[in-house]
Amino acid sequence: MDLDFSPEELAFRDEVRAFLAESLTEELREGAIASPSVFVEPDIGQAWNAVLNKKGWLSYQWPKEHGGPGFTPVQRYIFEKECALAGAPTLTVLSLKLLAPVIYAFGTQEQKDYYLPRVLSGEDYWCQGFSEPGSGSDLASLQCRAVREGDKYIINGSKIWTTHAHHANRIFCLVRTGAEGRPQAGISFLLVDMDQPGITVRPILTLAGDHEVNQVFFDNAVARASDLVGNEGDGWKIAKFLLENERGGSCLAPRLLADLDQIEKLAANEPDGQGGKLGDGAAWKRRLAKVRLSCQALEIMELRILADIAKGRPPGPQTSLIKFLASSLRQDVDLLGIDLYGDAGLQLDTNRPLYGDNAPEPAIHSKDAQMVTPRYLNSRAWTIFGGTNEVQASIIAKTVLGL
Ligand SMILES: Cc1cc2nc3c(=O)[nH]c(=O)nc-3n(C[C@H](O)[C@H](O)[C@H](O)COP(=O)(O)OP(=O)(O)OC[C@H]3O[C@@H](n4cnc5c(N)ncnc54)[C@H](O)[C@@H]3O)c2cc1C
Repeated sequence: MDLDFSPEELAFRDEVRAFLAESLTEELREGAIASPSVFVEPDIGQAWNAVLNKKGWLSYQWPKEHGGPGFTPVQRYIFEKECALAGAPTLTVLSLKLLAPVIYAFGTQEQKDYYLPRVLSGEDYWCQGFSEPGSGSDLASLQCRAVREGDKYIINGSKIWTTHAHHANRIFCLVRTGAEGRPQAGISFLLVDMDQPGITVRPILTLAGDHEVNQVFFDNAVARASDLVGNEGDGWKIAKFLLENERGGSCLAPRLLADLDQIEKLAANEPDGQGGKLGDGAAWKRRLAKVRLSCQALEIMELRILADIAKGRPPGPQTSLIKFLASSLRQDVDLLGIDLYGDAGLQLDTNRPLYGDNAPEPAIHSKDAQMVTPRYLNSRAWTIFGGTNEVQASIIAKTVLGL
């Protein structure tokens, strides 16, 4: 594997850098940096999406025939790395990276024509209805039921931990349409409008006081039969495809490395309480180097997966390795952030948002110090969502190591 960029790839990197320098406003950058939860709030995320869409780069992961810009896997990587280095907001993962590939891989022509452009324009903002109370890791046990009545499905049950359901106008759901055979066989993938009397969204506040997740209740909610993706019973196959994209469909190392660079820069000026600077201490340097080496190892793994994709090989269960490592490293990086500031890093303002004109002032020290505890508490979720680390370890044992 050749890890040096070609002259064309370096030219592309310069093009991305120039675009970011021109288009990424201070307001967007501030909103991204001061968003402690996994997804940025829609006012920031959608505004950045619109800028990228105008440039034709919002669909940078999509194949050209479905509206993507035709980036090679290496260009995708360069694009993600430069966005991370520039501090750009994260994108609307659920719509762009999870739902859209399902639609173009499994959807009808009518579904592709209708839904894909609406993802790009921001007309549709999707949330993901997989987990239920009692069905998370054991997803195949899900009970939310959809019964076909003429050209409609009637849905009853509930979904939980549904990220941004309070912002979304649509939800993609795994629903039970059959009770015969293995539990997996009776699961279907259905697209549902959120704006209807049969749906209620109840907020759940997370550790840091963020409203990011919800419980969604379906009481005789209605979906069009034409919004079934694939056939009845295809839901498990589609969910596995989607979860592989969720676990490994992005380059996560560049953002971790960019955050480490920032922590290193701040530590160089932070007093160590003994007349020196924290960044000069041997123990601190050792910790930083250890995490950085692991992030660099992750980056090489991500590049290897990209090389496989370039050769037409699907990423497959290796994505569980990526999810496992990236989630643990996210938590390691955020813990370094807390340790950087000592007491000042322990402040927890639960007012939201932490950006914009009405953002609360830091109680002590600086805006950077104000962010570390909310970020640390939010990153506890990384080893849970998209499949817990224990579940990833089982998948790795079975499918990667053959145990
Ligand atoms: C912030 C956040 C956002 C989320 N967003 C969404 C969303 O938008 N949509 C959605 O559908 N879901 C979402 N989830 C839900 C997430 O996918 C589930 O929480 C996750 O799959 C774990 O399921 P559970 O919570 O039911 O835990 P459980 O499955 O009950 O697990 C509890 C514990 O038991 C362990 N465990 C379970 N089974 C095994 C096993 N076989 N072997 C070893 N250990 C095991 C787990 O690792 C865990 O430690 C989100 C979760 C969080 C925290």
